[in-house]
Amino acid sequence: MTDSGRTIALAEQALSQIKALRLSADPQSFEIWYAYVAGTQPKLNAYINEILGQRPSLSALELEQIHYRFFSQARVAERVETVGAKIKDEVDQIVAMIEAAIGASTQYQSELEDSTRKLALPIDRETLRVIVESLVFSTKEVEQENSTLSASLGLSRKQIADLQEDLVSIRAESLSDPLTMLANRKHFDESLERILAKSRHSGEVFCLILADVDHFKSFNDTHGHQMGDHVLRLIAGEMKQAVKAQDIVARYGGEEFAIILPASDLTAAAAVAERIRTTTMSRELRRRKTGESLGRVTISLGIAECRAHESAQDLVERADNCLYAAKRRGRNCVVAQDQLVAGAPQPA
Ligand code: GH3
Ligand code: MG
Ligand code: MG
Repeated sequence: MTDSGRTIALAEQALSQIKALRLSADPQSFEIWYAYVAGTQPKLNAYINEILGQRPSLSALELEQIHYRFFSQARVAERVETVGAKIKDEVDQIVAMIEAAIGASTQYQSELEDSTRKLALPIDRETLRVIVESLVFSTKEVEQENSTLSASLGLSRKQIADLQEDLVSIRAESLSDPLTMLANRKHFDESLERILAKSRHSGEVFCLILADVDHFKSFNDTHGHQMGDHVLRLIAGEMKQAVKAQDIVARYGGEEFAIILPASDLTAAAAVAERIRTTTMSRELRRRKTGESLGRVTISLGIAECRAHESAQDLVERADNCLYAAKRRGRNCVVAQDQLVAGAPQPA
């Protein structure tokens, strides 16, 4: 079969899978199923087959996670490898240049020493002329080599600066969540450990807010996963607006968010959480094209203040218990270390 015949056959198979599993044929989904039928990633196939062994199809969330794991993350890893290889090449070239320059300069030095020795002896005019000529020649040669070296080093410096920029952007990408552009879970985990260590040292308190969208499954079921994604982006934007530059807003999981508020006590954190809760509930959602109202979504929030010598895991667990308490109290409310701060309290 020709190349184009083969790729069209694979595309048709991918589409049949999408239809058979009643999934959306968006580009992400297509990329997954094309790779699946082409068998280019055995681990991806094993993972999908395991899920399909238990259930008839995959959820949109599962597909998003699969795409993140096998495609977005894999691309970052690929880029790291490419940039790493380029840096190695560049460093090898610089080392070779420096070695050549050292060789040339050692040779020049021994020539100088040799000439000095000869000049110390009684010599005739002709010998003097030969020595001077040879010195002028070698000096010109060294000069020429130096200017070539400096041009090559200049070029390498520029290439290394470009590679450094690539690395900065790869690092930023590997730490951010592609849907909301917030910090991702890895970034959150690293930041929490760093801030915890700093607070142990300085004794400064900080707070952690965990937030979860209320009844989001039913929102997705009613209005579609894409609209759900749009809402997650809106909430992410509201959270970013409600905090200071030093605070870290992260997507903790599917429809869960985490905010670290350095140098903030429970009162300050509760004010931030309450601001986020009220802005979220007061925004009426509309379908952009038709203007159709989709109602509102609400979020529940739990807050914990760090305690001396507490582990990151314990702090997260305490914030999570508060979030759970907020859900039990009827959702759309803020609970800080088992105390209701604000919202719609309903007896548990
Ligand atoms: P609760 O108020 O108890 O939190 O109810 P819930 O429906 O929000 O909770 P549940 O954990 O049962 O469901 C979470 C839902 O969030 C499931 C899934 O449809 C949705 N979700 C998770 N991640 C994403 C995402 O990335 N995009 C979209 N659109 N939906 C997501
Ligand atoms: Mg949840
Ligand atoms: Mg939820």
